[in-house]
Amino acid sequence: MPSRIAIVEDEVELASLIEYNLTRGGFQTRVFPGSEGTIKELEAWRPDLIVLDVMLPGQDGFEICRKLRQTGPLSITPILFLTARSDEVDRVLGLEIGGDDYITKPFSPRELLARIKAHLRRIEGGAPAKSTELLVGPFRVDTAARRVFRNSVELELTSTEYRLLEFFLAHPAHAWSREDLLREVWGEQHFVTPRTVDVHIRRLREQIETQPDEPVYLVTVRGFGYRFELAV
Ligand code: CA
Repeated sequence: MPSRIAIVEDEVELASLIEYNLTRGGFQTRVFPGSEGTIKELEAWRPDLIVLDVMLPGQDGFEICRKLRQTGPLSITPILFLTARSDEVDRVLGLEIGGDDYITKPFSPRELLARIKAHLRRIEGGAPAKSTELLVGPFRVDTAARRVFRNSVELELTSTEYRLLEFFLAHPAHAWSREDLLREVWGEQHFVTPRTVDVHIRRLREQIETQPDEPVYLVTVRGFGYRFELAV
């Protein structure tokens, strides 16, 4: 069954261009104008990935993302932002809104397609086949359901945060450089910078640490990268 890609974009010509290319790339697509009912329509359609423009006529893409992340069926669906300005990129990287990736306009359809495929591959190939449960300290990972619990309380993670945390929990007590993490978590086709790793780490600490500024699990290895500590 082809993966379903939602395109939330109010510029009709750009939306058609994206749709044309994604359809040719073998995806099932649907365009949403970003208007009032878009969130409900998205949740009803259940896409596998959402391409979300930032500049929309009513609520902006960040607002839509934030609402989708709160609850509901699309709370961990990958969201790839279309941004036009560098300050928007900063907000996407700030990740307070829970996006997974961004692409700046103008972009080539081929690049968009490559990124979408990279995200979908990670979802499909992400979970180990044999075991579906990982127990590390107070953390329990249900890899089949892609859920993480800390002392039985479920963490609210974006799909990138989930992959990053799952990777750390699967390889505790090992120091990883930012480049290692980009390769292992974002994959060969990563389009992100080492700074992105830091932003995700900070976000993750807010979820898993009692005091995010003084982390005891996800610690900084000075001048190198990060390590997940078991002995606390
Ligand atoms: Ca727009």
